[in-house]
Amino acid sequence: MTIHAVRGVHDILPGEGEKWRRVERIAREVFDSYGYEEIRLPIFERTDLFARSIGEATDIVQKEMYTFEDRGGDSVTLRPEATAGLLRAYIEHGLFVHPKPIKLYTMGPMFRYERPQAGRYRQFHQLDVEALGDEHPSLDAEVIAMLVEFFRRLDLAERLQVEINSLGDENPTCRPRYRTELVRYLRAHADRLCDECRERMERNPLRVLDCKKPECRRVLDGAPALGDFLCEDCAPHFGKTREYLEAMGIRYVVSPRLVRGLDYYVRTTFELTTTELGAQNAVAGGGRYDGLIKLLGGPPDPGIGFAVGVERVVQLLPDVAQGAWQDRRPGVFLIPLGDEALRRLLPVAGELRAKGIVVEVGHGERKLTRELERASKLEEAKRLGVLHAVILGPDELARGEAKVKDMKSGAQRAVPLSGLVDELLALGGRA
Ligand code: AMP
Repeated sequence: MTIHAVRGVHDILPGEGEKWRRVERIAREVFDSYGYEEIRLPIFERTDLFARSIGEATDIVQKEMYTFEDRGGDSVTLRPEATAGLLRAYIEHGLFVHPKPIKLYTMGPMFRYERPQAGRYRQFHQLDVEALGDEHPSLDAEVIAMLVEFFRRLDLAERLQVEINSLGDENPTCRPRYRTELVRYLRAHADRLCDECRERMERNPLRVLDCKKPECRRVLDGAPALGDFLCEDCAPHFGKTREYLEAMGIRYVVSPRLVRGLDYYVRTTFELTTTELGAQNAVAGGGRYDGLIKLLGGPPDPGIGFAVGVERVVQLLPDVAQGAWQDRRPGVFLIPLGDEALRRLLPVAGELRAKGIVVEVGHGERKLTRELERASKLEEAKRLGVLHAVILGPDELARGEAKVKDMKSGAQRAVPLSGLVDELLALGGRA
């Protein structure tokens, strides 16, 4: 019986890999240009870390974590997101002693036991960015601008909408006051809410705002808006963030019901959404989490960050045109006819590759005659689309030369073996 991949995980096959490389390359370029440094983190952590940071009452912690006991009896969890691990490292290694803000990014797989569907996996990949130790709203705007710039370089910015909101903070005159009002309103309309929302209403009321069901949406249309409850610190912080975004020419909409699935967010939150991916419309999301670093045992440093869902970005990218492959398509195809020729050409391949030329060596099955072998290998060279083929058979060997064939013009000429590498380097070998 053949073994298949586990439900909800997927392979990234070579053709698609090209898009992944592009996404990662552009991410690095953009993040570098904003002064971010890469940090690489383990993919599993102690379970407590996630329970404490993401929040006990969240869907992620309640239902979606891959948690297991290791052989030593410790409870560990495959990371469902990267922020918690990154902050753990920030605290553990005392990174906070450096000048603020500390700007870090990481990328890799995340794991959530969600119901698999198009665009939703159990192992998926995120680019994760965090700026720590600075609460100025211009940093909020800069982080959002950087995210937009990343999508602009991928030619996707025009297909995405930037949604922003402020969630206020835990100051009693801010979100707690709103929460009380919201729960009062939801209880009064509980009979018109879905079962899940009725349950959430008590456990995690802000998440009710996120429900997509039409009957709940109708109730929520009349619900009090968080924006009207922001305290005297949060309201100007949001106002300034918007001002700076506008100064940078970033287009956005304020989505009063944008709340996020993780408990730790305060003040600015944002999402980049598209209408092109059906139900899974969020391509990236993030926000501020002032207070979280302290909660995890670190200094009282504020923080802001976002995560990009790489699968969803890749899905939006057009298929890679043939041309985009050309850089890595072999430039030279070496055709040895016989073992002695192969031994002579192997070091030639090594030298050319060391100089950055993509080389393919056509060792393969013996045909009935050398002539047939030569013809079938030249056929293969044509199929590969190489610029030059090098043929080395017994006759050429005897004369101490190889034949170099220009595959476009078909012209063929003899080159002394001693000068073969230099000659091919001079030809460039690049497609
Ligand atoms: P979150 O960490 O939940 O804020 O998610 C950030 C981004 O990661 C989302 O906007 C999605 O693009 C992506 N994402 C989250 N969960 C999944 C999943 N199960 N499968 C694929 N992408 C996901």
